[in-house]
Amino acid sequence: MAPAAITPESSGTTTPTTTTASKLTEAGIKHASHNSNGQTGKLAALDASLMTTTLNKAAKTVPEFDGPEAKAQKTMTDHMVTASWTVEHGWAAPELKPYGPLSIMPSASVLHYATECFEGLKLYRGYDGRLRLFRVSRNCARMCRSASRIALPDFDPKELEKLIIALCAQDGPRWLPKDRAGCFLYIRPTMIATDPALGVQRPREALLYVIMSCFPDMSKSLATPAPPAMQGEANGAAKASPGLRLIASSEDTIRAWPGGFGYAKVGANYGPSLVAQGEAKAKGFDQVIWLFGSDDYVTEAGASNFFVVVREKSSGKLQLITAPLEERMILEGVTRASVLDLARERMTKTQDGVEAVEVVEKRFNMKDLIAAHEDGRFVEAFAAGTAFFVAPVSVIHFRGRDIGVPMDGDSGVYARLIKQWLSNIMFGKQEHEWGVVVEEKAQ
Ligand SMILES: *Cc1c(COP(=O)(O)O)cnc(C)c1O
Repeated sequence: MAPAAITPESSGTTTPTTTTASKLTEAGIKHASHNSNGQTGKLAALDASLMTTTLNKAAKTVPEFDGPEAKAQKTMTDHMVTASWTVEHGWAAPELKPYGPLSIMPSASVLHYATECFEGLKLYRGYDGRLRLFRVSRNCARMCRSASRIALPDFDPKELEKLIIALCAQDGPRWLPKDRAGCFLYIRPTMIATDPALGVQRPREALLYVIMSCFPDMSKSLATPAPPAMQGEANGAAKASPGLRLIASSEDTIRAWPGGFGYAKVGANYGPSLVAQGEAKAKGFDQVIWLFGSDDYVTEAGASNFFVVVREKSSGKLQLITAPLEERMILEGVTRASVLDLARERMTKTQDGVEAVEVVEKRFNMKDLIAAHEDGRFVEAFAAGTAFFVAPVSVIHFRGRDIGVPMDGDSGVYARLIKQWLSNIMFGKQEHEWGVVVEEKAQ
Protein backbone atom coordinates (compact mmCIF):
# COMPACT_ATOMS: atom_id res chain seq x y z
CA MET A 1 0.00 0.00 0.00
CA ALA A 2 1.16 3.50 -0.79
CA PRO A 3 2.49 5.43 2.16
CA ALA A 4 -0.23 7.48 3.77
CA ALA A 5 1.80 10.55 4.45
CA ILE A 6 1.53 13.23 1.81
CA THR A 7 1.71 16.32 3.95
CA PRO A 8 5.24 17.54 4.55
CA GLU A 9 4.85 17.54 8.34
CA SER A 10 3.30 14.12 8.80
CA SER A 11 6.24 12.15 7.52
CA GLY A 12 8.35 10.78 10.31
CA THR A 13 9.81 12.63 13.22
CA THR A 14 11.59 15.52 11.58
CA THR A 15 11.28 18.73 13.51
CA PRO A 16 9.83 21.70 11.71
CA THR A 17 11.68 24.93 12.25
CA THR A 18 10.51 28.36 11.24
CA THR A 19 12.70 28.10 8.19
CA THR A 20 11.48 24.74 6.94
CA ALA A 21 7.88 25.67 7.60
CA SER A 22 8.10 28.87 5.62
CA LYS A 23 10.11 27.23 2.85
CA LEU A 24 7.40 24.63 2.46
CA THR A 25 4.75 27.32 2.23
CA GLU A 26 6.76 29.30 -0.28
CA ALA A 27 7.37 26.25 -2.39
CA GLY A 28 3.59 25.94 -2.65
CA ILE A 29 3.48 22.22 -1.95
CA LYS A 30 0.76 20.61 -4.02
CA HIS A 31 -1.94 19.16 -1.85
CA ALA A 32 -4.47 18.43 -4.56
CA SER A 33 -5.98 14.97 -5.01
CA HIS A 34 -4.24 13.51 -2.02
CA ASN A 35 -5.57 12.51 1.28
CA SER A 36 -3.71 10.94 4.10
CA ASN A 37 -6.20 8.15 4.74
CA GLY A 38 -4.52 5.77 2.38
CA GLN A 39 -7.02 6.26 -0.44
CA THR A 40 -5.76 6.73 -3.93
CA GLY A 41 -7.53 7.69 -7.13
CA LYS A 42 -9.42 10.75 -8.25
CA LEU A 43 -10.45 12.50 -5.08
CA ALA A 44 -11.71 16.05 -5.30
CA ALA A 45 -9.31 18.62 -3.89
CA LEU A 46 -10.50 21.56 -1.82
CA ASP A 47 -11.31 24.18 -4.46
CA ALA A 48 -12.44 27.67 -3.47
CA SER A 49 -13.40 28.51 -7.06
CA LEU A 50 -16.33 26.07 -6.75
CA MET A 51 -17.82 27.97 -3.80
CA THR A 52 -21.57 28.58 -3.92
CA THR A 53 -23.19 31.57 -2.19
CA THR A 54 -26.51 31.79 -0.33
CA LEU A 55 -26.94 35.19 1.28
CA ASN A 56 -28.48 35.77 4.69
CA LYS A 57 -31.84 37.51 4.33
CA ALA A 58 -32.14 38.10 8.07
CA ALA A 59 -29.00 40.14 8.59
CA LYS A 60 -28.25 40.96 12.24
CA THR A 61 -27.64 44.38 13.79
CA VAL A 62 -23.92 45.02 14.04
CA PRO A 63 -22.96 45.75 17.66
CA GLU A 64 -20.52 48.49 18.67
CA PHE A 65 -16.81 47.68 18.61
CA ASP A 66 -15.43 46.32 21.91
CA GLY A 67 -18.86 46.59 23.55
CA PRO A 68 -20.65 44.01 25.73
CA GLU A 69 -21.48 41.74 22.74
CA ALA A 70 -17.82 41.65 21.75
CA LYS A 71 -16.80 40.84 25.33
CA ALA A 72 -19.36 38.00 25.44
CA GLN A 73 -17.79 36.53 22.26
CA LYS A 74 -21.07 35.00 21.11
CA THR A 75 -21.90 37.33 18.24
CA MET A 76 -20.86 35.92 14.88
CA THR A 77 -21.24 37.76 11.58
CA ASP A 78 -24.04 36.96 9.09
CA HIS A 79 -22.29 34.24 7.12
CA MET A 80 -19.98 31.25 7.37
CA VAL A 81 -18.11 29.13 4.85
CA THR A 82 -18.30 25.34 5.05
CA ALA A 83 -16.72 22.51 3.07
CA SER A 84 -17.35 18.85 3.75
CA TRP A 85 -15.00 15.97 3.04
CA THR A 86 -15.38 12.22 2.79
CA VAL A 87 -12.72 9.59 2.33
CA GLU A 88 -14.54 8.30 -0.78
CA HIS A 89 -14.98 11.58 -2.63
CA GLY A 90 -12.61 14.09 -1.12
CA TRP A 91 -13.78 17.69 -0.82
CA ALA A 92 -17.25 18.86 -1.80
CA ALA A 93 -17.81 22.35 -3.23
CA PRO A 94 -17.46 24.95 -0.44
CA GLU A 95 -20.56 26.94 0.52
CA LEU A 96 -20.85 30.50 1.77
CA LYS A 97 -24.16 30.60 3.61
CA PRO A 98 -26.01 32.14 6.58
CA TYR A 99 -24.34 31.52 9.94
CA GLY A 100 -26.25 28.87 11.84
CA PRO A 101 -26.17 25.56 13.72
CA LEU A 102 -24.45 22.47 12.38
CA SER A 103 -26.12 19.10 12.33
CA ILE A 104 -23.86 16.25 13.38
CA MET A 105 -24.51 12.85 14.89
CA PRO A 106 -24.09 12.36 18.65
CA SER A 107 -21.62 9.64 17.71
CA ALA A 108 -19.48 12.01 15.61
CA SER A 109 -15.76 11.43 16.05
CA VAL A 110 -15.05 15.00 17.19
CA LEU A 111 -17.38 14.65 20.19
CA HIS A 112 -15.54 11.58 21.46
CA TYR A 113 -11.96 11.71 20.27
CA ALA A 114 -11.25 15.45 20.07
CA THR A 115 -10.62 15.27 16.33
CA GLU A 116 -10.72 19.04 16.04
CA CYS A 117 -8.28 21.75 15.09
CA PHE A 118 -8.67 25.48 14.60
CA GLU A 119 -7.02 28.75 13.75
CA GLY A 120 -7.39 32.27 15.07
CA LEU A 121 -6.67 35.43 13.13
CA LYS A 122 -8.09 38.91 12.73
CA LEU A 123 -9.53 41.07 10.01
CA TYR A 124 -8.32 44.65 10.43
CA ARG A 125 -9.92 47.91 9.22
CA GLY A 126 -7.03 50.14 8.22
CA TYR A 127 -6.63 53.86 8.67
CA ASP A 128 -6.42 54.03 4.87
CA GLY A 129 -9.97 52.60 4.70
CA ARG A 130 -8.92 49.14 3.50
CA LEU A 131 -9.47 45.70 5.04
CA ARG A 132 -6.43 43.55 5.74
CA LEU A 133 -5.46 40.13 7.00
CA PHE A 134 -2.04 39.62 8.60
CA ARG A 135 0.23 36.86 7.19
CA VAL A 136 -2.85 34.69 6.62
CA SER A 137 -0.86 32.12 4.62
CA ARG A 138 0.91 31.16 7.84
CA ASN A 139 -2.38 30.43 9.59
CA CYS A 140 -3.48 28.26 6.67
CA ALA A 141 -0.22 26.31 6.58
CA ARG A 142 -0.44 25.77 10.34
CA MET A 143 -4.04 24.55 10.00
CA CYS A 144 -2.76 21.84 7.64
CA ARG A 145 -0.08 20.80 10.14
CA SER A 146 -2.62 20.72 13.00
CA ALA A 147 -5.09 18.69 10.91
CA SER A 148 -2.49 16.11 9.99
CA ARG A 149 -1.56 15.62 13.68
CA ILE A 150 -5.09 14.40 14.45
CA ALA A 151 -5.79 12.44 11.25
CA LEU A 152 -8.00 15.10 9.67
CA PRO A 153 -7.82 15.45 5.88
CA ASP A 154 -5.25 17.41 3.99
CA PHE A 155 -5.95 20.37 1.71
CA ASP A 156 -4.10 23.07 -0.17
CA PRO A 157 -3.64 25.91 2.35
CA LYS A 158 -4.00 28.42 -0.48
CA GLU A 159 -7.61 27.28 -0.96
CA LEU A 160 -8.40 27.82 2.72
CA GLU A 161 -6.89 31.28 2.38
CA LYS A 162 -9.28 32.03 -0.50
CA LEU A 163 -12.25 30.84 1.57
CA ILE A 164 -11.22 33.07 4.49
CA ILE A 165 -10.87 36.01 2.11
CA ALA A 166 -14.31 35.27 0.59
CA LEU A 167 -15.97 35.42 4.03
CA CYS A 168 -14.10 38.65 4.88
CA ALA A 169 -15.07 40.20 1.54
CA GLN A 170 -18.72 39.34 2.21
CA ASP A 171 -19.12 40.32 5.89
CA GLY A 172 -16.23 42.78 6.33
CA PRO A 173 -17.89 45.82 4.72
CA ARG A 174 -20.96 45.74 7.03
CA TRP A 175 -19.41 44.32 10.21
CA LEU A 176 -16.23 46.38 10.04
CA PRO A 177 -17.32 49.54 8.22
CA LYS A 178 -14.93 52.24 7.06
CA ASP A 179 -15.67 54.45 10.08
CA ARG A 180 -14.16 51.75 12.31
CA ALA A 181 -10.51 52.36 11.42
CA GLY A 182 -8.29 50.67 14.02
CA CYS A 183 -10.96 48.02 14.79
CA PHE A 184 -11.05 44.30 13.96
CA LEU A 185 -13.09 41.10 13.78
CA TYR A 186 -11.84 37.67 14.82
CA ILE A 187 -11.81 34.79 12.33
CA ARG A 188 -12.02 31.17 13.44
CA PRO A 189 -11.27 28.54 10.78
CA THR A 190 -12.15 25.13 12.24
CA MET A 191 -12.07 21.50 11.17
CA ILE A 192 -13.96 18.68 12.88
CA ALA A 193 -14.33 14.98 12.17
CA THR A 194 -18.04 14.36 11.57
CA ASP A 195 -17.65 10.61 10.94
CA PRO A 196 -20.58 8.96 12.81
CA ALA A 197 -18.68 5.70 13.38
CA LEU A 198 -17.83 5.16 17.04
CA GLY A 199 -14.74 3.07 16.34
CA VAL A 200 -11.45 4.61 17.40
CA GLN A 201 -10.05 5.11 13.92
CA ARG A 202 -9.02 7.69 11.34
CA PRO A 203 -12.15 9.70 10.51
CA ARG A 204 -13.74 9.10 7.11
CA GLU A 205 -15.86 12.28 7.14
CA ALA A 206 -14.95 15.81 8.13
CA LEU A 207 -16.16 19.38 7.96
CA LEU A 208 -14.03 22.47 7.46
CA TYR A 209 -15.66 25.77 8.29
CA VAL A 210 -14.80 29.42 8.79
CA ILE A 211 -16.76 31.74 11.08
CA MET A 212 -16.13 35.34 12.08
CA SER A 213 -16.86 36.97 15.41
CA CYS A 214 -17.00 40.25 17.29
CA PHE A 215 -14.07 40.18 19.68
CA PRO A 216 -12.94 42.32 22.60
CA ASP A 217 -9.81 44.45 22.42
CA MET A 218 -7.90 42.43 24.99
CA SER A 219 -4.77 44.54 24.83
CA LYS A 220 -6.82 47.56 25.92
CA SER A 221 -8.96 45.90 28.58
CA LEU A 222 -5.86 44.71 30.42
CA ALA A 223 -4.64 48.19 31.13
CA THR A 224 -7.83 49.08 33.01
CA PRO A 225 -8.92 47.46 36.26
CA ALA A 226 -11.48 44.68 35.95
CA PRO A 227 -14.94 45.35 37.42
CA PRO A 228 -15.08 44.21 41.07
CA ALA A 229 -17.28 41.22 40.24
CA MET A 230 -14.65 39.85 37.89
CA GLN A 231 -11.69 40.35 40.17
CA GLY A 232 -10.18 37.61 42.24
CA GLU A 233 -10.76 38.27 45.91
CA ALA A 234 -7.16 38.00 46.99
CA ASN A 235 -5.45 40.39 44.60
CA GLY A 236 -8.28 42.61 43.42
CA ALA A 237 -6.53 45.86 44.23
CA ALA A 238 -3.28 44.90 42.55
CA LYS A 239 -5.10 44.31 39.27
CA ALA A 240 -5.31 48.05 38.70
CA SER A 241 -1.64 48.12 37.66
CA PRO A 242 -1.07 47.62 33.92
CA GLY A 243 0.56 44.50 32.52
CA LEU A 244 -0.30 40.83 32.57
CA ARG A 245 -0.02 39.07 35.89
CA LEU A 246 1.13 35.50 35.33
CA ILE A 247 1.15 32.55 37.68
CA ALA A 248 3.37 29.53 37.07
CA SER A 249 1.67 26.23 36.29
CA SER A 250 1.92 23.67 39.06
CA GLU A 251 4.01 20.47 38.70
CA ASP A 252 0.91 18.36 38.14
CA THR A 253 -0.48 20.37 35.22
CA ILE A 254 1.62 20.16 32.08
CA ARG A 255 0.39 21.82 28.89
CA ALA A 256 2.64 20.06 26.41
CA TRP A 257 5.53 17.60 26.34
CA PRO A 258 8.05 16.25 23.82
CA GLY A 259 6.31 13.87 21.45
CA GLY A 260 2.93 15.39 22.30
CA PHE A 261 0.89 17.87 20.31
CA GLY A 262 1.62 21.24 21.88
CA TYR A 263 2.82 22.52 18.48
CA ALA A 264 -0.61 21.87 16.92
CA LYS A 265 -3.64 24.12 17.38
CA VAL A 266 -5.90 21.23 18.33
CA GLY A 267 -8.84 21.56 20.72
CA ALA A 268 -7.35 18.81 22.87
CA ASN A 269 -4.71 21.28 24.07
CA TYR A 270 -7.18 23.76 25.52
CA GLY A 271 -9.93 21.95 27.45
CA PRO A 272 -7.41 20.47 29.91
CA SER A 273 -5.88 23.92 30.54
CA LEU A 274 -9.12 25.52 31.73
CA VAL A 275 -8.96 24.35 35.36
CA ALA A 276 -5.54 25.96 35.80
CA GLN A 277 -6.74 29.09 33.96
CA GLY A 278 -9.81 29.32 36.24
CA GLU A 279 -7.67 28.91 39.35
CA ALA A 280 -5.27 31.59 38.13
CA LYS A 281 -8.19 34.02 37.63
CA ALA A 282 -9.62 33.21 41.03
CA LYS A 283 -6.26 34.11 42.59
CA GLY A 284 -6.18 37.45 40.75
CA PHE A 285 -3.88 36.50 37.86
CA ASP A 286 -4.55 36.91 34.15
CA GLN A 287 -2.87 33.86 32.67
CA VAL A 288 -0.88 30.75 33.48
CA ILE A 289 2.78 30.69 32.51
CA TRP A 290 3.32 27.10 31.40
CA LEU A 291 6.48 25.45 32.71
CA PHE A 292 7.92 22.14 31.65
CA GLY A 293 10.11 19.61 33.41
CA SER A 294 11.85 19.44 36.76
CA ASP A 295 14.03 22.40 35.73
CA ASP A 296 10.95 24.59 35.20
CA TYR A 297 11.60 25.51 31.59
CA VAL A 298 9.40 28.40 30.48
CA THR A 299 7.32 27.55 27.42
CA GLU A 300 4.26 29.78 26.83
CA ALA A 301 1.86 32.13 28.63
CA GLY A 302 -1.83 31.24 28.34
CA ALA A 303 -2.44 30.70 24.63
CA SER A 304 0.33 33.11 23.69
CA ASN A 305 4.04 32.81 23.11
CA PHE A 306 6.27 34.31 25.78
CA PHE A 307 9.28 36.61 25.43
CA VAL A 308 11.78 38.06 27.89
CA VAL A 309 14.48 40.69 27.52
CA VAL A 310 17.39 39.81 29.80
CA ARG A 311 20.94 41.15 30.07
CA GLU A 312 23.28 38.21 29.65
CA LYS A 313 25.56 37.81 32.63
CA SER A 314 28.82 37.03 30.84
CA SER A 315 28.65 39.28 27.77
CA GLY A 316 26.60 42.09 29.32
CA LYS A 317 24.54 42.16 26.13
CA LEU A 318 20.77 42.40 26.00
CA GLN A 319 18.95 39.35 24.63
CA LEU A 320 15.38 39.00 23.46
CA ILE A 321 14.62 35.37 24.26
CA THR A 322 11.76 33.02 23.50
CA ALA A 323 11.45 29.24 23.82
CA PRO A 324 12.58 27.20 20.77
CA LEU A 325 10.35 25.13 18.48
CA GLU A 326 12.61 22.07 18.30
CA GLU A 327 10.84 19.80 20.74
CA ARG A 328 7.42 20.60 19.33
CA MET A 329 6.05 21.73 22.68
CA ILE A 330 5.48 25.32 21.57
CA LEU A 331 2.81 26.62 19.24
CA GLU A 332 4.57 28.39 16.39
CA GLY A 333 2.68 31.67 16.64
CA VAL A 334 2.35 33.98 13.66
CA THR A 335 2.87 36.83 16.13
CA ARG A 336 5.94 35.03 17.54
CA ALA A 337 7.49 34.70 14.09
CA SER A 338 6.70 38.35 13.35
CA VAL A 339 8.21 39.60 16.63
CA LEU A 340 11.38 37.62 15.88
CA ASP A 341 11.54 38.82 12.27
CA LEU A 342 11.03 42.49 13.18
CA ALA A 343 13.47 42.37 16.10
CA ARG A 344 16.12 40.74 13.90
CA GLU A 345 15.52 43.34 11.22
CA ARG A 346 15.18 46.47 13.33
CA MET A 347 16.57 45.91 16.84
CA THR A 348 20.03 44.48 16.41
CA LYS A 349 21.59 47.96 16.30
CA THR A 350 21.22 50.59 19.02
CA GLN A 351 18.88 53.23 17.62
CA ASP A 352 17.01 56.26 18.97
CA GLY A 353 18.23 55.45 22.47
CA VAL A 354 16.91 51.87 22.30
CA GLU A 355 19.74 49.49 23.06
CA ALA A 356 20.39 46.70 20.55
CA VAL A 357 19.22 43.18 21.40
CA GLU A 358 20.44 39.78 20.30
CA VAL A 359 17.45 37.71 19.23
CA VAL A 360 17.60 34.13 20.48
CA GLU A 361 15.31 31.13 20.45
CA LYS A 362 16.57 28.97 23.31
CA ARG A 363 15.53 27.15 26.41
CA PHE A 364 15.39 29.21 29.60
CA ASN A 365 13.97 28.38 32.99
CA MET A 366 12.62 30.01 36.11
CA LYS A 367 16.04 29.78 37.79
CA ASP A 368 17.50 31.92 34.99
CA LEU A 369 14.73 34.49 35.39
CA ILE A 370 15.04 34.61 39.17
CA ALA A 371 18.82 35.07 38.92
CA ALA A 372 18.33 37.85 36.34
CA HIS A 373 15.70 39.46 38.58
CA GLU A 374 18.02 39.36 41.61
CA ASP A 375 20.95 40.93 39.68
CA GLY A 376 18.78 43.58 38.05
CA ARG A 377 19.29 41.98 34.60
CA PHE A 378 15.61 41.15 33.96
CA VAL A 379 14.62 44.01 31.66
CA GLU A 380 11.20 43.11 30.29
CA ALA A 381 8.68 40.35 29.54
CA PHE A 382 5.69 40.13 27.24
CA ALA A 383 3.24 37.66 25.76
CA ALA A 384 2.51 37.66 22.02
CA GLY A 385 -0.40 36.13 20.14
CA THR A 386 -3.35 37.16 17.99
CA ALA A 387 -5.90 37.41 20.81
CA PHE A 388 -3.83 39.40 23.34
CA PHE A 389 -1.59 40.91 20.65
CA VAL A 390 1.61 42.10 22.39
CA ALA A 391 0.85 42.17 26.09
CA PRO A 392 3.46 43.43 28.58
CA VAL A 393 3.94 41.28 31.68
CA SER A 394 4.31 42.96 35.08
CA VAL A 395 4.42 40.02 37.50
CA ILE A 396 5.35 36.34 37.43
CA HIS A 397 4.20 34.42 40.47
CA PHE A 398 6.33 31.32 41.03
CA ARG A 399 6.06 28.92 43.99
CA GLY A 400 4.90 31.48 46.52
CA ARG A 401 6.85 34.52 45.39
CA ASP A 402 6.14 37.43 43.07
CA ILE A 403 8.83 38.30 40.55
CA GLY A 404 8.20 41.90 39.54
CA VAL A 405 9.08 42.66 35.93
CA PRO A 406 10.21 46.23 35.24
CA MET A 407 7.84 48.40 33.20
CA ASP A 408 8.24 51.82 31.66
CA GLY A 409 4.75 53.14 32.36
CA ASP A 410 2.19 50.79 30.85
CA SER A 411 4.70 48.65 28.91
CA GLY A 412 8.33 47.82 28.48
CA VAL A 413 10.22 49.67 25.75
CA TYR A 414 10.70 46.65 23.46
CA ALA A 415 7.10 45.44 23.70
CA ARG A 416 5.84 48.96 22.99
CA LEU A 417 8.01 49.36 19.88
CA ILE A 418 7.19 45.93 18.46
CA LYS A 419 3.48 46.41 19.12
CA GLN A 420 3.56 49.74 17.29
CA TRP A 421 5.40 48.27 14.31
CA LEU A 422 3.00 45.35 14.01
CA SER A 423 -0.05 47.52 14.44
CA ASN A 424 1.23 49.89 11.71
CA ILE A 425 1.33 46.95 9.30
CA MET A 426 -2.05 45.52 10.37
CA PHE A 427 -3.87 48.83 10.10
CA GLY A 428 -2.19 50.01 6.90
CA LYS A 429 -0.04 52.77 8.34
CA GLN A 430 2.96 51.01 6.84
CA GLU A 431 2.67 49.26 3.48
CA HIS A 432 4.16 45.81 4.05
CA GLU A 433 3.97 42.39 2.40
CA TRP A 434 2.54 40.92 5.63
CA GLY A 435 -0.62 42.99 5.28
CA VAL A 436 -2.91 41.18 2.82
CA VAL A 437 -5.56 43.54 1.43
CA VAL A 438 -9.09 42.09 1.09
CA GLU A 439 -11.13 43.42 -1.83
CA GLU A 440 -14.60 44.07 -0.43
CA LYS A 441 -17.78 42.81 -2.05
CA ALA A 442 -20.29 45.45 -3.02
CA GLN A 443 -23.18 45.31 -0.53
C1 LIG B 1 -2.75 30.43 19.01
C2 LIG B 1 -1.69 30.24 20.01
C3 LIG B 1 -0.56 31.09 20.10
C4 LIG B 1 -0.42 32.34 19.28
O1 LIG B 1 -0.37 32.14 17.92
P1 LIG B 1 -0.63 33.36 16.94
O2 LIG B 1 -0.52 32.75 15.60
O3 LIG B 1 0.42 34.36 17.20
O4 LIG B 1 -1.99 33.87 17.25
C5 LIG B 1 0.43 30.77 21.01
N1 LIG B 1 0.33 29.70 21.81
C6 LIG B 1 -0.74 28.89 21.78
C7 LIG B 1 -0.79 27.73 22.70
C8 LIG B 1 -1.79 29.13 20.89
O5 LIG B 1 -2.85 28.36 20.89
